[in-house]
Amino acid sequence: MAEVSFKVSSRVFLRSLRLVFLFVVLLVVFTFLSVVYLGPDNLGFIFSLKVKEVVGLPERVTPQMWLDSLRHGVLGFFLGILTLDVVYAVFTVFSSVLMDVDHVPSFLGLPVPARIAHSFVFLLFVCFVFYFLFRDKKLLVVWGSSFVLHISLDNLMVPVFSPFLLSPEVPRQLVGVFVFVAYFVNFLVGWRRFKEVFLQKK
Ligand SMILES: [Zn+2]
Repeated sequence: MAEVSFKVSSRVFLRSLRLVFLFVVLLVVFTFLSVVYLGPDNLGFIFSLKVKEVVGLPERVTPQMWLDSLRHGVLGFFLGILTLDVVYAVFTVFSSVLMDVDHVPSFLGLPVPARIAHSFVFLLFVCFVFYFLFRDKKLLVVWGSSFVLHISLDNLMVPVFSPFLLSPEVPRQLVGVFVFVAYFVNFLVGWRRFKEVFLQKK
């Protein structure tokens, strides 16, 4: 029995890890392509970077940014557990925090927006790849709510059509609506799972 539960949890752990890893790859690819799209000359800048400049990046992260990451992680955790699914919860926490990896080009001094991947284009890009690979519609919903919560916590000060249009942003008044929708959607995912596991077996 112990062996069975170990196998289940290691499978869950690996699936979570695989999703997070894939997410980071997609984020890096999207960010890179966006930087090049916004200025083909940026490619030369990237290749001229010295290792010292890249390694020194964490020093440029301000205490406020670390606090923001913590806030994204904590609220992402409460969003993820609503799904009642470990894989979705782990993915939500990590995607909530790691979204800000797209700040790297701006930190390096490239003339691009800091939140270059905080974009509906990136949202759709990830949806497309996830659906193609996993055919899991609930995962798309969970990713969508993680994204919506993240940009809401950034006060919607994000270029939502990046890299094609760097303005307009979404009206700030919608923050409350976006947060509500994100939590409500994950609650529905969790409620469905709750019914499947506990109610239909009776
Ligand atoms: Zn952000």
